[in-house]
Amino acid sequence: MARILIVEDEANLAQGLLFNLQAEGHEVSVEGDGDSALNRLRRQPFDAVVLDVMLPGKNGFEVATALRAEGNYVPVLMLTARSRSQDVVSGFAAGADDYLPKPFDLTVLLARLNALLRRMHWPRAPEKSPSPRNDPAEFTFDGRHIDFEALELHALGRTVRLTLMEVDLLRHLTRNRDRIVSRKELLEEVWHVREDTDTRAIDNFVVRLRRYIEDDPATPKYLQTVRGVGYRFMPNPE
Ligand code: CA
Repeated sequence: MARILIVEDEANLAQGLLFNLQAEGHEVSVEGDGDSALNRLRRQPFDAVVLDVMLPGKNGFEVATALRAEGNYVPVLMLTARSRSQDVVSGFAAGADDYLPKPFDLTVLLARLNALLRRMHWPRAPEKSPSPRNDPAEFTFDGRHIDFEALELHALGRTVRLTLMEVDLLRHLTRNRDRIVSRKELLEEVWHVREDTDTRAIDNFVVRLRRYIEDDPATPKYLQTVRGVGYRFMPNPE
């Protein structure tokens, strides 16, 4: 059983989700606009949030951005419009952990939500669960330390709590270290977006990672831009 907040202004859809998630045994709350959702999340702990993008007041991107800025890392499943893959990337840049295009199949939503809840429980599991694809649980480079299971990054004398999507991006970059990865590859492998998408939101996402690991984010040493192509993660730059 998990505590889930649904943020959706379409009453019928919200009620349908409420009913079905309760039937799964979850404790479910609903908010119909961005500001109420944010206030609710500041007062009350949840295990996951289903967050619509188009909302009265603050939209879903603004809610997710505000949450992350306040240090709230509750897993967020964002509901986006099907025709707008830009929404998907913007959602991840705002700190969403997964997305589902509308209209969606309810069984798909339940599966994605359960996957998000399971992943979130890895770090707290009494016995260490294996990472996907037998990836290492940690990665250390040049005095920086990424703990993929605890969702933490230690660098420059501080600890940053990572979103699940940031962890996925860092996993991909560390697995492909010293190699150029294209924006298209990141979209497909990390974001699972296959359409042609404006990739500027990815760049914003990378800017955020640089703030975590670089001495000077404006002149990155470890996470470099390869002009016109993508990025290269170099844990041991010359
Ligand atoms: Ca809506």
